[in-house]
Amino acid sequence: MTVYLVGAGPGDADLLTVRAAQLLAEAEVVVHDRLISREVLALVNKRAARYDVGKAPGLAHSQEGINELLVALARDFEFVVRLKGGDPFVFGRGGEEVEALEAHGIDVRVVPGVTSAFAGPLLAGIPVTHRGVSHGVTVVTGSSVKGSRVDFACLANADVTLVVLMGVERRAEIAAELIEGGLAPSTPVGVVEWASTDQQRCLRCRLDELGASHVRAPAVLVIGEVAALDLGSVKTFAATWAFA
Ligand code: SAH
Repeated sequence: MTVYLVGAGPGDADLLTVRAAQLLAEAEVVVHDRLISREVLALVNKRAARYDVGKAPGLAHSQEGINELLVALARDFEFVVRLKGGDPFVFGRGGEEVEALEAHGIDVRVVPGVTSAFAGPLLAGIPVTHRGVSHGVTVVTGSSVKGSRVDFACLANADVTLVVLMGVERRAEIAAELIEGGLAPSTPVGVVEWASTDQQRCLRCRLDELGASHVRAPAVLVIGEVAALDLGSVKTFAATWAFA
């Protein structure tokens, strides 16, 4: 009765950690999200029971329901893998799942994954930090949960790169708030859709053009001078790939 919370990376199975691949090959049961690629799922032990608890926007398996399922499975199986996109502790609600499991006395181990927050920009040729251009990087969510949301005007800082996950829907408001906070309207922006997959696309624009841009989720927004760089984008590694 151990639950492994495993990061699946951004999509391309080559970006799984060795530990993640081993756990998938040995799992008795796998509980996974929507944004897990077919290619990654193909590595799951063929005899393992699989639960897709993918939360398509709108129709949701509630987080409470997922927590209950994990607790129940942990009682029935010795070895449960909970597979989450990217890194389990970067906006994956992984922390909540660990709390719920530990509250029931269940042993939990967490396996880090390659997060889309950093791999997305990189695969599009954008370094999130670059000497003389950006001194750091701030990763935030663009979505608002129960009315509480990030104050983007306070994050307007030309020396630090801003990476926004879940920001596609509110991109116009985000850009407006950053400009209001003092960021130049001409600040470069990169939008990386479906990073590491064969559908990867990177759109480049100015901050004041972001609202009108055509973008498909999932995407990572990269805002700052680094988004003007294009350093060795490695799109060619992406294998044929589709979501399950
Ligand atoms: N734990 C995940 C993030 C989950 S939140 C991680 O570490 O990557 C979901 C958001 O992640 C999406 O809205 C999108 O902003 C981003 N995302 C996840 N996979 C992506 C991908 N392959 N390409 C671009 N963005 C991705």
